Amino acid sequence: MDERELQSLVNRNPMLFDIAAGNEVVWINPDREPIDAVRGSQELGLSDIDDAERRLARFAPMIMSCFPETVNQQGMIESDLTPIPRMHALVNETYGAAVPGRMLLKQDSHLAIAGSVKARGGIYEVLEHTENLAVENGLLTEDEARGVVDAPDSYRRLADEASRTVFSNYVMEVGSTGNLGMSIGITSAVIGYRVKVHMSSDARQWKKDMLRRYGVEVVEYESDYSEAVRCARESAAANPMSHFVDDENSRTLFLGYSVAARRLPVQLRGLGVHVDEDHPLFVYLPCGVGGAPGGITFGLRHVFGDNVHCFFVEPTQAPCMLAGMVSGLGSMLSVQDLGLGGKTEADGLAVGRPSQFIGELMKPHLSGEVTVLDDRLYGYLHDLFAAERVFVEPSAAAAFHGPVMFGKDRGFVYYVERNGLTQLLGGSTHVVWATGGSMVPRTVREEYLRIGER
Ligand SMILES: *Cc1c(COP(=O)(O)O)cnc(C)c1O
Repeated sequence: MDERELQSLVNRNPMLFDIAAGNEVVWINPDREPIDAVRGSQELGLSDIDDAERRLARFAPMIMSCFPETVNQQGMIESDLTPIPRMHALVNETYGAAVPGRMLLKQDSHLAIAGSVKARGGIYEVLEHTENLAVENGLLTEDEARGVVDAPDSYRRLADEASRTVFSNYVMEVGSTGNLGMSIGITSAVIGYRVKVHMSSDARQWKKDMLRRYGVEVVEYESDYSEAVRCARESAAANPMSHFVDDENSRTLFLGYSVAARRLPVQLRGLGVHVDEDHPLFVYLPCGVGGAPGGITFGLRHVFGDNVHCFFVEPTQAPCMLAGMVSGLGSMLSVQDLGLGGKTEADGLAVGRPSQFIGELMKPHLSGEVTVLDDRLYGYLHDLFAAERVFVEPSAAAAFHGPVMFGKDRGFVYYVERNGLTQLLGGSTHVVWATGGSMVPRTVREEYLRIGER
């Protein structure tokens, strides 16, 4: 994009001026629609989410065999939802926000196997592909794989040595800033695949080291996420035995994330939390390319309809989804086009160009976005640990900028008023989606906490 095009774009969208300047912004989506106006009009819907949930249930016996840490949850990969009253008080007192109602933490930071939200989408895609290969290789019948007949033993046998030998003929490939590579890498390696993870320059060293210990081939790039994904796509295309996990375009990954929404109502009820016309639910999700927060938002909107309000959080230096939505250009516009560096301490969010299909799917669902300066991330991380003894990584800590801005920004006041929520805030619930952190090694953890000390 040349200077003139950029100028005219910015003139038409004043918020792009702030975004391009690297300022923190709050953006309210003017295109959000009532769920009844959206249902049935998009390429995916509730039946696809339920399909994904059933596939995960079919695989539970295999998951338990491969990953014994999931046995106490019967092979379901799910995280806790916990009240964080002390952090809520800190947000209100230290950060000068006034967030009403209750604040909860969704601890995908502590999901089994991969220690991040990527344990949802990533593992789901590996399993779906495994189901297809199992049918091709006579390890499952068509009826078993379609769920027509219940076949827990057949699924359990997919973890046997004989099945592993079959899967070892195949390759899984993915491009990643770190966590998706960890999720795909660990799962695939344990199931028996050969794995090639293409890591962008943003990936932390310990993530690459850990993968290599699992026998994963880690290819390192000097370039950013988009380039790593491109190379992974090319590499996989050249090998008929290789499956490319396409973070930018995969409907499968997206649906794997969406299943979270099917499970949240049960968890909320367990905490005595109501979500209905009089009790709104606000959810804050860190966003990179859009898959994880997009899939979860999509699911939540189908489950809670107009009573849920989802906000994405992106770093000021890599606000790709926001730039795509504000400009209307989607993946045609990169943050580099706007003159931003794309570099951030929130490695999981270091993405310069959003997913086109997710941006389009999100248009009628998303409530808005906030962007956050890197300077704040370690402070949030430190305070959460000090207050609640939960450790999250910088990308996940970004989510706290959502409620902080909710409690003090005019954009949110406007949103609340326009949606007729002003009188309902006392009964509102705020879920901060912690997307990663439990696998961060102790020494790195201590360093992060030290940086966050004030
Ligand atoms: C990947 C990731 C995200 C964002 O997910 P996208 O699908 O890239 O939008 C958020 N937090 C963490 C810790 C992640 O690893």
